[in-house]
Amino acid sequence: MLMTTSWHTVTLGALERELNTSFHEGLSGNEAAARLKLHGPNKLPEVKPTSLFLIFLRQFQSPLIYILLAASVVVLAMEEVTDALVILFVLVFNAIVGMLQEGRAQNTLAALKRFAETPATVLRDGTAVVIPDFEVVKGDVIVLREGEKVPADARIIESRTLTVDEAAFTGESVPVHKEEAALEPPSLPPQEQRNMLFKGTNVVRGNGTAVVVAAGADTVIGKLAQEVSSVDTEIPLKRDIRQLSKLIILAVGVLSVGVFLLGIFAGNGIREMFTVVVSLGVSVVPEGLPVALTLVLASGVWRMAKRNALVKKLQAVEALGQAQVIAVDKTGTLTRNEMVIRKVYAGKTLFEVSGTGYEPKGEVKLRGTVVDPANHAELLLAGKIAVFCSGATVTFSEERQVWQIAGDPTEGAMGVFAAKVGFHKSELEKEAPLVAEMPFDYKTRYHATVHQEGQKHFLAVAGAPEAIVTLSQSVRVEGAVHPFTPEWKREFEAAFESMSEEGFRTVAFAYAELPPADEGKEFEIIQHGQLILAGVYGMEDSLRPEVPEAMMRAAAAGVRVVMITGDHRITAQAIAKEAGIWKEGDAVISGDELEEMDEKELDGRLETVTVFARVTPDHKMKIVQAYKRRGEIVAMTGDGVNDAPPLVAADLGVAMGKIGTEVAKEAADIVLLDDNFGSIVAAIEEGRTIYKTIQKVILYLFSTSLGEVLTIVGAILLGWPLPVLAVQILWLNLVTDGFLTVALAMEKGEPEFAKGSFSRPNKYLVDKTMLVRIVVMAAPMMIGSLFIFGGMYEINLPKAITLSLTTLAIFQWLNAYNCRSEKTSVFRMDLFSNIYLTGAMVIVAGLQLLAVYNPFMQKVLRTVPLSFSDWMWAIGISLSVIAVEEIRKLFYQQKNGKKSP
Ligand code: ADP
Ligand code: MG
Repeated sequence: MLMTTSWHTVTLGALERELNTSFHEGLSGNEAAARLKLHGPNKLPEVKPTSLFLIFLRQFQSPLIYILLAASVVVLAMEEVTDALVILFVLVFNAIVGMLQEGRAQNTLAALKRFAETPATVLRDGTAVVIPDFEVVKGDVIVLREGEKVPADARIIESRTLTVDEAAFTGESVPVHKEEAALEPPSLPPQEQRNMLFKGTNVVRGNGTAVVVAAGADTVIGKLAQEVSSVDTEIPLKRDIRQLSKLIILAVGVLSVGVFLLGIFAGNGIREMFTVVVSLGVSVVPEGLPVALTLVLASGVWRMAKRNALVKKLQAVEALGQAQVIAVDKTGTLTRNEMVIRKVYAGKTLFEVSGTGYEPKGEVKLRGTVVDPANHAELLLAGKIAVFCSGATVTFSEERQVWQIAGDPTEGAMGVFAAKVGFHKSELEKEAPLVAEMPFDYKTRYHATVHQEGQKHFLAVAGAPEAIVTLSQSVRVEGAVHPFTPEWKREFEAAFESMSEEGFRTVAFAYAELPPADEGKEFEIIQHGQLILAGVYGMEDSLRPEVPEAMMRAAAAGVRVVMITGDHRITAQAIAKEAGIWKEGDAVISGDELEEMDEKELDGRLETVTVFARVTPDHKMKIVQAYKRRGEIVAMTGDGVNDAPPLVAADLGVAMGKIGTEVAKEAADIVLLDDNFGSIVAAIEEGRTIYKTIQKVILYLFSTSLGEVLTIVGAILLGWPLPVLAVQILWLNLVTDGFLTVALAMEKGEPEFAKGSFSRPNKYLVDKTMLVRIVVMAAPMMIGSLFIFGGMYEINLPKAITLSLTTLAIFQWLNAYNCRSEKTSVFRMDLFSNIYLTGAMVIVAGLQLLAVYNPFMQKVLRTVPLSFSDWMWAIGISLSVIAVEEIRKLFYQQKNGKKSP
């Protein structure tokens, strides 16, 4: 067996034998399966998820818990054994609830990873198949293209300008060109092994094949990194909330001392006041908040994934809720990216082509009548250039029962059109083999090929009309070649502009024929502008049906949408108009204009621009930066290798999941699983829901705490005995509240979140309305509890205490329903739409019954049984919290001039 580090020294022949594979056929399916079973999946060692027990222990790491532990010791010293035990029980219970929430969040985030599978192309039994990258085994022959990730360590078999970015691996940012030849010496460091590919690096240019020499943990990166970083849940928002908690603990400390002294002064016992103050402290501290936040985030992110937006970096969630501008690619995101050639303009004649999708069946018509292509030389030429310039393959998928393409959709459409005219790539390439090729490049904007046709070389070129027009010297019309005069130029421009106005993507086609003597000079003809212009294809790429509706949702949410495309400005504007992005009076900026503008000029025009046409990925960077200078939070979509820098620069980089390259996906914050614009809008809606849900949880925790504090302080000020005992406060806060907080954290969004613009009120997410609501909710709790207690305590103190405890509990149940919406009446919402809330209600109501009637619980919580009429009183009084909040909601709606739906 060879040393794994010296794979670069071996000759390819020896390598093929050593790895027991075939460079032409790849492994057989059976052999690959056997190797996969033997060596395990091609994965780096993963960090194990934190065990539930550890999560449980972590719940005790909080200042609050330390205080409570200390308190239980003090209480024990005072020989209040039951109370000490209750404190301990509550601590454990609280830790269990926290553990379950965190565990659930962790599972959700782990499940998200499964969406983000990376594909790899390998040769198996002689054909290229796409498999998940973890199924790649040693000996597999991998096929690599621009934008793909290298799935395992491999030795190059064939490199066609294969260039790899190894920055993630070596820190070297200049891409490395890869070659086939064996290298010496064996000790060559990996960064100099130019015939090797390493797992985790990216192909930025060219293509090639390679044979896998090491997979999974045996790869260089696998040996370096014994663990892969797990999903990081620490987002700035969480840090803020944690700070908020600390602030509150401090305030509570000061407050507690005050209440303690006040109570002693009013004649209460030191012991009693001590336990009450500790319990109150516990009730005010929002200990459940950080954990609830994690849960809100995790379930929000999960809902986004279900709506086809996969969040890769949790930090992005913050930007998502606040996005103000979406700069979106036209081709593929707004349109289907299923091109069909509908019109062909060939020297004064305009043909129309019928057929659907990529099915190579359809007729060509001239002025409404079907024609036989064999009788029209210009049509045959259009078909021939189309087939020569098409690198895509069209196949019928038995599985999906549709015609589909592999490769560039623009070129797919050209192949399909050629077939309709009677040319088939496989047949034609036998007669006229490919000699040389210049693939489509966004800078040159054309694709050129050279084929050997008999004795001659045929140069075929297809590309953006402006590019082709400047490269042409003559024009072919009705079988004759004329010089390309300004008159002809105007005629051509009129033709492709009228196609563009219909929203067609236009691709001009040209050619040249060379005698054998000029072999090798083909591309000079292009450079010297000596092409013969032959016509223009007009391709339809229809708008995705969901787009206009999603546009309206975006507009309602105050999010601006601008289109970015490499297409012609007239085409872009026509599609943008259909999508609802461009309206009368909006500006269109082209890539050329963008290039000439300085920052100031661009900033000035940004307000009115809704379409950027004929732009390249390099321009996207300029656009992102301009929006950022305006202080706007901008989302940008992208798919190619060159889109990576703008995706990183944008507040929210959005990559296409289907057509996007791995490089773009890696650079992005979120990946659109269905490439659909509507999914971006959906993600923004969910992002806002996350904010709003966190606000609901904060509101609930603070309002109920304030209600309790006011009840106790009120009783002390009135010179009454305490209406709730220390253990009961713990019961209310950690048992009753605990369940309801989790339930609120699982709330789904309300439709109206999506309306009106949104920005975070402040670091802690607490806004004025919330402060008002906290008071509005706490006041009836205090008044109601004191009212029911005051009427009873002189007659029967234990019963009065039980009654005020129960009233406070019911107040909290009902208040959870209040918190579900800021402006919509409780009676207008579906009471049961949040099953977690319904479930939590059943549990807490059951527990309250136990607390009141179970003899053991009676002993622990010092309660006595209540009669039916007591319950009626408690419920009746608690309903006041709904009533008061309903009145506030009415006022709110009136002030904001909107009726709730
Ligand atoms: P988009 O942002 O719409 O994908 P591109 O930058 O890919 O735009 O394309 C710009 C123009 O280049 C198109 O309008 C079309 O005229 C031409 N073009 C695009 N792809 C090809 C191709 N594969 N072959 C020939 N011409 C193409
Ligand atoms: Mg493109």
